[in-house]
Amino acid sequence: MNERQKYLADKLENEHSLSLAEYEELLVSRTPELASLLAGRAVSLRKSIYKNHVYVRGLIEISNICKNDCYYCGIRKSNKNVQRYRLEKEDILSCAEEGYRLGFRTFVLQGGEDAFFTDAYLCDIIRNIKERHPDTALTLSLGERSRESYIALFEAGADRYLLRHETADKEHYKKLHPVGMSYDNRMECLRILRETGYQVGCGFMVGSPFQTYAEIAKDLKFIERFKPDMCGIGPFIPHHDTCFKDMPAGTLELTCFLLSVIRIIYPSVLLPATTALGTIDPRGRERGILAGANVVMPNLSPVSVRKKYELYDNKICTGEESAECVKCLSDRMKSIGYEIVTSRGDIIKNK
Ligand code: SAH
Repeated sequence: MNERQKYLADKLENEHSLSLAEYEELLVSRTPELASLLAGRAVSLRKSIYKNHVYVRGLIEISNICKNDCYYCGIRKSNKNVQRYRLEKEDILSCAEEGYRLGFRTFVLQGGEDAFFTDAYLCDIIRNIKERHPDTALTLSLGERSRESYIALFEAGADRYLLRHETADKEHYKKLHPVGMSYDNRMECLRILRETGYQVGCGFMVGSPFQTYAEIAKDLKFIERFKPDMCGIGPFIPHHDTCFKDMPAGTLELTCFLLSVIRIIYPSVLLPATTALGTIDPRGRERGILAGANVVMPNLSPVSVRKKYELYDNKICTGEESAECVKCLSDRMKSIGYEIVTSRGDIIKNK
């Protein structure tokens, strides 16, 4: 490792911040030695706050119907080869019931932007889950909605909202989304979510088409300033029915490097080792935890719909029952000296 790399690593650790040019330089000049130095620092920061605990979130994929047409996404509107589904209220409640029995204390309702899920309908589902399981946290990941909608869902009992910003560069955003979808609106949604009182998650895909280190530097600067409670990053993986089917996938190596950098930027952040990371490498999620992540999100969706929620090719965990997924992840975490804990797993700040 050269002096300059050491200088950047120390500055990042001491100030939790680099300039845009320095972030870019850190990425461009990275080596395996630098990656392991940063991973070591990331892991010790994370252990000082969260010990060796890994939080679990039970993911319920409520609908693959979407009005948007994001170029990268397998369930985009113009993909005619998807068998569309939406879960009934009763299905969602029984997934949560099953999850609760398995020890989950956080549920994530994720889906496409499906107009069938009106505020009234969602509020009813949220209230039902919270009444039956008052000791759980409820996270929504349902895309862009109006301020009124975010407020109504929050008042009904939702605690957290995940809305990846996808890229912090406006021009890059346009290359990933059709006209009609707006970078400004997505960023505005994140601000509204925070103002409303949610714990908020942003995030982006690593190696998304047309992404360069300059764009990633902007993502890191955005994360540094916004200080999200949660940050979802995973490799881009092409889906065979999208415009980006021939684009290369993001790498395990860069994703893990970025997990370490993000942990050092904001030590308290809740950082998942994503399913996409587990998809590009059989031990991807373990590697993510060892780079600084502290959350895993096993799938609780009914097995009958899992294959239909295919955002990218070869998504893992689409055949197993929920209980098997939990057992498998818990064994994986044990194998690297970490322990899955069943609690709401809220962010621990001010450390
Ligand atoms: N409709 C919701 C949920 C989107 S799915 C929303 O708009 O927020 C959750 C995330 O999956 C997306 O934010 C995106 O970053 C990621 N994703 C979509 N397609 C992907 C692909 N081909 N490879 C990897 N990640 C993908």
